[in-house]
Amino acid sequence: MLIIPESLIADLVSSEDAFTAVEATFAAMARGEAYNFPVVREALGEGRQYGFKSGLDRSGGQLGVKAGGYFPGNAAKGIINHQSTVFLFDPETGRPTAMVGGGLLTALRTAAASAISIDRLARPDANVLGMVGAGHQAGFQLRAAARVRKFQKVIAWNLHPDMLPKLAAIATELGLPFEAVPLDRMVEADVIITITSSPAASLMSAHVADGTHLACMGTDTVGKQEVEPALLGRASVFADEVAQSVSLGEAQHAVAGGLLDATAITPLGDVLVGRHPGRRSAAEITLFDGTGVGLQDLAVAAMAVRRAEERGLGSRVTV
Ligand code: NAD
Repeated sequence: MLIIPESLIADLVSSEDAFTAVEATFAAMARGEAYNFPVVREALGEGRQYGFKSGLDRSGGQLGVKAGGYFPGNAAKGIINHQSTVFLFDPETGRPTAMVGGGLLTALRTAAASAISIDRLARPDANVLGMVGAGHQAGFQLRAAARVRKFQKVIAWNLHPDMLPKLAAIATELGLPFEAVPLDRMVEADVIITITSSPAASLMSAHVADGTHLACMGTDTVGKQEVEPALLGRASVFADEVAQSVSLGEAQHAVAGGLLDATAITPLGDVLVGRHPGRRSAAEITLFDGTGVGLQDLAVAAMAVRRAEERGLGSRVTV
């Protein structure tokens, strides 16, 4: 098998690569050629979470698993809170083919998913990008979003305001004016990305104007929540995978509260393959519930493997 350490990923996979790979994955899911296996996610105590995301993509020839989780104490140790490794297997034989560092790949594939949703569902004239969250992942989401719309301004809110200057620096680097705002000013945003580890809703329905596109990316576990369920009742809801959206995504709360029927959630892949038109009017609120699926991880890891093989990088071991 080929071992590709985390340190090589930045040279092997770009955010454009991740966008292409994740788009292909969502389309393969919509065509029924790829499916995710049930997620295992366990609470280890003190906010630590660990689990496995896995799947099979027949079109891409990928079988594998990402093992990892969220360890909130890591930041104080100078390492990122998300830790993960992707293992790929030959779908015909089950032999392991690669072990790939999953940290940057997770960030890139998560940013790609929200950017794909913005590309396909936000109004073409979207001007103001609202960010709710300013942790490790927020900068990746901001950079990827800026590639798909010509935003004129970024407004941002974070529970911990001391984290906002880092996000402001990325906006400045992208040439975008940045303003820290209270949550009620999110009503000025045309696109809102939520990317927090919040256990309760921060963004309320009253904070969101008609015509907004939301990419809700932080809720990937039972019990997490970023937005008021009423917002999902008011929106056309899309998801990477409906089964994950209703069980561990943002939709878990609206479905449990009877504000949203699971059958009303559209896989984003349906938009990509032309089965669903996407946004239907300028006034419609569209909301993408991005829970993060194992197939995204396999797709970007497989891309890293292809690139590494082309360039003779990584280490080969026999297991
Ligand atoms: P991080 O620890 O670097 O940042 C956490 C963010 O959440 C910060 O902005 C922090 O201020 C905010 N926050 C913490 N507690 C909060 C609370 N009670 N209310 C509101 N905000 C709060 O984490 P990160 O790497 O930026 O990841 C953010 C979230 O995204 C995590 O929940 C993570 O599990 C999730 N995530 C999802 C995917 C996906 O595919 N959907 C992928 C990666 C990360």
